[in-house]
Amino acid sequence: MNEIDRKTFAARSCPICGKPVEPAFKPFCSKRCADIDLNRWLSGVYAVPAKEDEDEDGNRPAGSETDEK
Ligand SMILES: [Zn+2]
Repeated sequence: MNEIDRKTFAARSCPICGKPVEPAFKPFCSKRCADIDLNRWLSGVYAVPAKEDEDEDGNRPAGSETDEK
């Protein structure tokens, strides 16, 4: 929904770091920034906010809390 904002921004400088855009990595200045943006995208799409890695990893504190149901 921020099409205009995005376009204006991307057309001039890297949306990640603000450096001049490199044609090879449009609309970013480097592969690194492209990766960063991609990561943001992916985490925004796939990741559930507020949770990263708990529970299903079998990583519960042993004996500190007895809250099993
Ligand atoms: Zn950049």
